[in-house]
Amino acid sequence: MKLYGIRKSNIDRNGRGLYAIKDIKEGTRIINYVGKIITKKKTEESKKFDNSKPIYLFNLNGRYDLDGDVPWNIARLINHACLNNCDYEGKGLKLWVVAIKDIKKGDELTCDYGFSYDSDYKQFPCKCGSKNCVGFIVREGSRWRINKKFKKIQRVSR
Ligand SMILES: [Zn+2]
Repeated sequence: MKLYGIRKSNIDRNGRGLYAIKDIKEGTRIINYVGKIITKKKTEESKKFDNSKPIYLFNLNGRYDLDGDVPWNIARLINHACLNNCDYEGKGLKLWVVAIKDIKKGDELTCDYGFSYDSDYKQFPCKCGSKNCVGFIVREGSRWRINKKFKKIQRVSR
């Protein structure tokens, strides 16, 4: 049964997002994250993945990546939030978006995009509105560096 719908996003004001169309229990696989399976060699050679724009690339294993930047991948519409309610879960060459907490009908589905901290982080501002938002899309484990830099130390309420 379909658990999500596509609507204009509250986070990305210029774009769309996915919303829960019914209550979703923690641990539920909501949607398959699909795309093109490509070799790491191709990833390294392609200009598309040079980190100059938001990318939808996942590491599947030592040999293959998944490029989710394809029109038929609905899951790519899921926006980043610093207090995300979903996460990506991989098994073999399959990738799922899974609820990591109980989600209420009408809530926007959000993931942690997991961009690592580097000098380019400022090109990905975050407007998710979470209490713990650091203002930029950065992997949770790297956020302390941003917090330190901007002296916006806040407790993560999870
Ligand atoms: Zn945020």
